[in-house]
Amino acid sequence: MLNIIIFGKPGSGKGTQASIIKDKYNLQHISTGDVFRKNMSSKTDLGLLAKGYMDKGELVPDQVTIDMLSHEIDNFLPCKGFIFDGFPRTTYQAKALDNLLSLESQKIDLIIALDVDNTTLTERLLQRGKSSGRSDDQSVEKINIRLQEYDNKTKPLVTFYMQQNKFFSVDGIGSLQDITSRIIHVIDKYTND
Ligand code: ADP
Repeated sequence: MLNIIIFGKPGSGKGTQASIIKDKYNLQHISTGDVFRKNMSSKTDLGLLAKGYMDKGELVPDQVTIDMLSHEIDNFLPCKGFIFDGFPRTTYQAKALDNLLSLESQKIDLIIALDVDNTTLTERLLQRGKSSGRSDDQSVEKINIRLQEYDNKTKPLVTFYMQQNKFFSVDGIGSLQDITSRIIHVIDKYTND
């Protein structure tokens, strides 16, 4: 299997790139944000719980997120690999992911971060909010809360994966195709080594 995490701040383009990369390498794409939003629109208990946090721009509690992810992984197995998008977002989640994969004798191979500055991210998210209607994309205040959540809870993952030599960062600014090529370059270098 090939298991990749696509990483980056809100609005860095993780979802867009993950859906291109999953086709190229035949991977299953799991976006925790998308799974939460599906649950929100069908008004499941999980969706109602997640909504309270997502609307405020805060992370959903770890255990709720991990249980959901574990369920998603089970649904897709067996498969050629995963591209995780929006997960893990805390060190606790990263350790839980290692445990889940080790149950299948699997591991994370690569974490690829999309590097984008906060000014560009804020512009992108406000723009996306106009068409997506996502409540968390509607104001600079909410976007700032998400960026703070990233700094406080998610950023430590950079060191976590760097220490394992699995962390690669690519420039997340440019044309869609250019960014995809940068990601493919990292993956192909890894798989050909
Ligand atoms: P973005 O990357 O633009 O923030 P996502 O769809 O990945 O968009 O996430 C939207 C929201 O969903 C997050 O702000 C958070 O509330 C919730 N969420 C998604 N993934 C996780 C996660 N792994 N842990 C906790 N909350 C999450």
